Amino acid sequence: TAGSGALDALIVDVPDFPKPGIAFKDITPLLADPAGYAGAIEGLVALAPAGIDLVVGMEARGFLFAAPVALRLGVGFAPVRKPGKLPRTTVAASYTLEYRSETLTMHADAVRPGQRVLVVDDVLATGGTARATADLVAGLGGEVVAVVVLMELGYLDGRATLHAAGLTDVRALL
Ligand code: IMP
Repeated sequence: TAGSGALDALIVDVPDFPKPGIAFKDITPLLADPAGYAGAIEGLVALAPAGIDLVVGMEARGFLFAAPVALRLGVGFAPVRKPGKLPRTTVAASYTLEYRSETLTMHADAVRPGQRVLVVDDVLATGGTARATADLVAGLGGEVVAVVVLMELGYLDGRATLHAAGLTDVRALL
């Protein structure tokens, strides 16, 4: 299994994407490297707390990590998507970014009350996405046990946003 230094080297900083001043973490080289991708999934699985009933992941890059983690944990997976994508009755949560508002949705029956849920995403930046996802899960009666991400951008302090929302267990592989 690749060590975290090897994983780090497979995530490429792209300056000024998607707009000037933003340094985007490109995970596609990691996905293209079989040992790196497998190592990332194993690392995320190792970070997951025990007793998880369901993994929830956000479109689109989050799916690439959340679904394999669910398979490895032997639990189900539920997708969080942008509005208009899920075919049945949904619930929605909105959050504000610096310059726009974003809405995420889940199927209303995606989480059963009392289920212990693990939220998995690729990158934790401001924490808005993970926070809205946790709101959706909690609104359906699930308990968000932890948020596990491949990479945390510490300087954006998303962890503080999640802590303020009562999500104290936040774990990052990188
Ligand atoms: P947040 O809501 O600000 O925490 O942003 C996290 C979400 O945006 C995640 O779903 C990521 O997929 C995406 N994201 C933010 N920054 C990056 C990045 O640098 N690389 C890849 N995805 C990112």
